[in-house]
Amino acid sequence: MNKNLENYYQDMGISQKVFNLCQEIEHSLKERFEKIDYVTECNQLKVLKAMQDHHLSESHFAPTTGYGYNDTGRETLEKVYASIFHTKAALVRPQITCGTHALALALSANLRPGDELISPVGKPYDTMEEIIGIRPSKGSLAEYGITYKQIELLDDKSFDYYSLQNAISDKTKMITIQRSKGYLTRPTFSVKQIGELISFIKQINPDIICMVDNCYGEFVELDEPSDVGADMVVGSLIKNPGGGLAPIGGYICGTKECVENAYYRLTAPGLGGEVGASLGVNKDFFQGLFLAPQVVGGALKGAIFAASLYEYLGYECTPAAAESRHDIIQAITFHDPDKVIAFCEGIQYAAPVDSFVNPTPWAMPGYDCDVIMAAGAFISGASIELSADAPIHEPYTVYFQGGLSYDHAKFGIMKSLAQLESKGLIHIPS
Ligand SMILES: *Cc1c(COP(=O)(O)O)cnc(C)c1O
Repeated sequence: MNKNLENYYQDMGISQKVFNLCQEIEHSLKERFEKIDYVTECNQLKVLKAMQDHHLSESHFAPTTGYGYNDTGRETLEKVYASIFHTKAALVRPQITCGTHALALALSANLRPGDELISPVGKPYDTMEEIIGIRPSKGSLAEYGITYKQIELLDDKSFDYYSLQNAISDKTKMITIQRSKGYLTRPTFSVKQIGELISFIKQINPDIICMVDNCYGEFVELDEPSDVGADMVVGSLIKNPGGGLAPIGGYICGTKECVENAYYRLTAPGLGGEVGASLGVNKDFFQGLFLAPQVVGGALKGAIFAASLYEYLGYECTPAAAESRHDIIQAITFHDPDKVIAFCEGIQYAAPVDSFVNPTPWAMPGYDCDVIMAAGAFISGASIELSADAPIHEPYTVYFQGGLSYDHAKFGIMKSLAQLESKGLIHIPS
């Protein structure tokens, strides 16, 4: 029997009503998707050129062990990253355990006792609070005598240049700028906006180090923050630049001095970047990076599809369906815990791994309420793979991101709607 697309979706538990609505929504996004394809194509060539320019070859995939001296794969990988981000140097290692670690490394390597760090974009990502010592924490920057100031965004979510200018002093050594909204409700900043902020800071004092937390932002735009003046860009390899294949890791791309400091901090004074065995992960780092523009493009389309669908059904989406995108995170506000739970169940049931598992709200360390998480990933915790999570409190917002392919992201969203429908929580207009 010849099956058509609708039959395949039926086999996966998608009703005709959900199928028809989703096909219609997808149809309306054609031009939007073409613009994303354009960015993907440019970024694909950018990544490919960097690999060719540095003569990537099969020998670079060979594993090293022990001290890892003369690991040409590792050296080439770091050169390729530096080329892509247009920086003088890069540190890209499996010894960096996650994004938080990469950020802690970039900060602690470049700040000294008596220095001051400023965030001009309001509260940083949750885990940054403990690195900085906003929440008292063992080993925080605060314990080492590094002070911190935070400038809130103005009511219209623009930068408070006036307060920032007043806050900057002789002690100000570094500014930290988080590109993505993360799990906050503020908008994600465009690379252009970040460039304007950096220009303003550099005009006050060009020696201030401007660091950008680039998590979830890589390859979303044609430029990266390092193209508009950032001294350091920092991120996680189990998000965008790992392309879903990197099994661990983080990166810091930036000026020679900033990255060198990070080498010495990661390993030891005197050792620096000369040690650090790659243990056979190089091939996945390269191949994931090669695929990353495609994967990010698919995740972006998924986010736009989700916003378009749920906005049509009457729910508030951040960013809104028609808004421009600067990261891959999509927030949908349900104002109803049952809907949040059903949404996450749908995402879980759509996963290639652990699709039979029921996600339930649970108390999590670092949160002051129960949190529900849906993820069925090949790489544990990788949020470039299809995933969703939500703190169970007003306004009952679910954060959705990733998908290694657009088709899978789309199916996850369809499954979320199917779950809402089957629980009688949503009425789908016919
Ligand atoms: C994910 C993320 C981090 C932390 O990364 P982990 O790998 O989860 O430690 C930091 N900042 C932002 C904006 C992020 O999205």
